[in-house]
Amino acid sequence: MTKYVYEFSEGDGSMRNLLGGKGANLAEMTGLGMPVPQGFTISTEACTRYYADGEKIGDDIREQIVDYIGKLEELTGKKFGDPENPLLVSVRSGSRASMPGMMDTILNLGMNEDVVAAFAAKTGNPRFVYDSYRRFIQMYSDVVMEVGKAYFEELIDEMKERKGVKDDLELDADDLKELARQFKEEYKTKIGSDFPSDPIEQLFGAIRAVFRSWDNPRAVYYRRLNDIPSDWGTAVNVQSMVFGNLGDTSGTGVAFSRNPATGEPGLYGEYLMNAQGEDVVAGIRTPLTIDQLKAQNPGLYDEFQEIVTRLENHYRDMQDMEFTIEEGKLFMLQTRNGKRTAAAAFKIACDLVDEGMIDSKKAVSMIDPKQIDALLHPQFDQADLAGATPIGKGLPASPGAACGQVVFTSEEAAERGKRGEDVVLVRLETTPEDIEGMHYAKGILTARGGMTSHAAVVARGMGTCCVSGLGDITFGVKSFSLGGNTYNEGDWISLDGSTGNVYGEAIKTVPAEIGGYFGRIMEWADEYRTMKVRTNADTPLDAQQARDFGAEGIGLCRTEHMFFEPDRISAIREMIVSKSVEQRESALAKLLPMQRGDFEGIYEAMGGYPVTIRLLDPPLHEFLPHEHSDVVALARQMNMETIALEAVIESLHEFNPMMGHRGCRLDVTYPEIGAMQTRAIIEAAINVQKRHPEWDLVPEIMIPLVGEVKELAFVKKIVTDTADAIIAESGVDLKYLVGTMIEIPRAALTADEIATEAQFFSFGTNDLTQMTFGFSRDDAGKFLESYYEKKIYENDPFARLDQVGVGKLVETAVKLGRQTNPDIKLGICGEHGGDPSSIDFCQRSGLNYVSCSPFRVPIARLAAAQAALANG
Ligand code: PEP
Ligand code: MG
Repeated sequence: MTKYVYEFSEGDGSMRNLLGGKGANLAEMTGLGMPVPQGFTISTEACTRYYADGEKIGDDIREQIVDYIGKLEELTGKKFGDPENPLLVSVRSGSRASMPGMMDTILNLGMNEDVVAAFAAKTGNPRFVYDSYRRFIQMYSDVVMEVGKAYFEELIDEMKERKGVKDDLELDADDLKELARQFKEEYKTKIGSDFPSDPIEQLFGAIRAVFRSWDNPRAVYYRRLNDIPSDWGTAVNVQSMVFGNLGDTSGTGVAFSRNPATGEPGLYGEYLMNAQGEDVVAGIRTPLTIDQLKAQNPGLYDEFQEIVTRLENHYRDMQDMEFTIEEGKLFMLQTRNGKRTAAAAFKIACDLVDEGMIDSKKAVSMIDPKQIDALLHPQFDQADLAGATPIGKGLPASPGAACGQVVFTSEEAAERGKRGEDVVLVRLETTPEDIEGMHYAKGILTARGGMTSHAAVVARGMGTCCVSGLGDITFGVKSFSLGGNTYNEGDWISLDGSTGNVYGEAIKTVPAEIGGYFGRIMEWADEYRTMKVRTNADTPLDAQQARDFGAEGIGLCRTEHMFFEPDRISAIREMIVSKSVEQRESALAKLLPMQRGDFEGIYEAMGGYPVTIRLLDPPLHEFLPHEHSDVVALARQMNMETIALEAVIESLHEFNPMMGHRGCRLDVTYPEIGAMQTRAIIEAAINVQKRHPEWDLVPEIMIPLVGEVKELAFVKKIVTDTADAIIAESGVDLKYLVGTMIEIPRAALTADEIATEAQFFSFGTNDLTQMTFGFSRDDAGKFLESYYEKKIYENDPFARLDQVGVGKLVETAVKLGRQTNPDIKLGICGEHGGDPSSIDFCQRSGLNYVSCSPFRVPIARLAAAQAALANG
């Protein structure tokens, strides 16, 4: 028979998967002989069973729990429901990873009218007993029966007003007894039955509530953000109560072994005398700082300090602890590795190395790479943020905080941004034409688009805060409505690109700050990682930014992004509407020097590191004007009838632009495009190589959207014919590579054939994901939320690589590609290249490098090191 329940003395710290973090640490502290009120843990497997059995606690599990209550009764000499000597317990959730958003604690479980009456008489402290009782009813009603807290708080406030007192502590036993009665009445009104008096019934209600809370929307959302699988489940800890509210020699508190905000060494925490758990955090009474305990009770402080030191030395990490003092005696209720800010995380890791507690490998492994974002982007001033309420929530598309006045057009954003004004660009969606405005905006908010939509990808590349896919927005004339309010041009709003929250007011931001600890950790990370980290960059500026962040090359330069600069868009449009090869070539000739100049700038910025440049990829209609006035202007410029131009635009219209006339298909139909781009890439390389004889430039030309080896061979021939002729003429011995993106399932499945024509593969997992799933990356945001709700998908497959399906295609392509071309270079340049869990997958799949947007380069460096260490 499977064992589902463990006494604290039966477990230890290594049993985290089974007992959850809290349970494993309580067991470990018990083993270390620390003062822990005893109890038992119901395993995470019991939670998984609960869901597998249709949200029921199986009879065998129930039996074991009842059995362990018996054991706890023996251990403590107390009895459930016994008025003379009642066993009272706390019930708390605790999963493998600490997870805010799950069930709160229930304290004092086991109380009922009989117990309370006898207990009050026995302790001679009726005030304490009735205080505990009313707390229990309140917590149980709130978390088990989901009645809500607000009304209970109102009742307390009414009582205080009636008695003319301010502090809860001033209410006497009779007041609290009366409150307990009112609470039970409220329970009966809301639930329709009496408050349960049987402790066993109370206990199972609480256990079910913990299991249920594993799947509440907050917990599901948190798991999605933090890559926590839903099948882990949560454990339940049942622990005998110790009381911090027994009088002035009792108390309760929380403490960190180092400062969680700054990382400074030294005890940091708060406590309250004559109080129970939630009082410290609830803010009803102002807690004292832990230093004051030293003055108030030096003996107890020393004992606590000694335990803290032992715990830190034992876990070799900063600890977050809860403790209770019951009539002068100290009890430890919990310890765990403490959550900390990004700045504190780097400092603590370095300090622990310097103190000889951990080595540099451990330091690299203990930092969550996603936290790095907070160091590289501006953040909200925490005090200012505390008073703000979001008016809506979209996708956290590009991290950081932004605050500015609303503008609705890219032109307006650029104009006002250039004047130094702070603006937030609000759009239905963004297109490549918005690039300049996006650049000058502090933040971007869109109603449509997912995590790989244009707005998201471009904003991440620029390091600009972006919230996308906020479908609740409705647009008016130069205004939008959200959360019941209307915002006009010029109104102040604030965005949090790390959470997706939008605020209808100005919130102060503070600039990014990178300290010396960051550099030290990154140096270690570079030592341990085996994959290279490149960047996706389209301009010399982005390339420079990425190098500053430690990029070792460009994995993807999307050449089309340069075409939207105002001085180029007309030449590309001319190329598109050309009727003959000659006309097209003459338009391309105008583009050639501009592209060559861009590429020279990029090679220069990358200082000799490898640069992969992709041939034109998007469907041509993206470059054409959509507004009637722009069409008329272009027609005039092209010397065409407006009607004729409209016909061209109409002919280029595509229903699904992602699967149409794009990628290498453009070069198959218009070889002169590929020829011009190759010329620009090679001539630029020759020029830069001449300027820097010490560099060994080897440009990498990448052909997008290949699905068939013959189309790759066809386009490759255009590239090699052009390149070889230019190189021969130049007299410079320039080497170059030709490779392809693997972003169509057929390419992955026929990678052995494709590899005979390719010197490198770069996995374009954005397209590969959308084609494997069969849904568009621009539209998926509209329905993915329903998929999360129905638990069909746990994550956005555009943000976190689907290792089961898309991953199988990647692994297949790696294996087949190496079969026919053992020297082939393998990398990834889809957005997943900057996502830690996907980077771990890339390591396991044997890729040589990952490539991601500049601001994700440090994340990728750290994640790649962690992947190497974990899979080494
Ligand atoms: C991809 O498809 O993963 C990719 C990098 O190309 P793009 O996003 O430009 O389509
Ligand atoms: Mg692609």
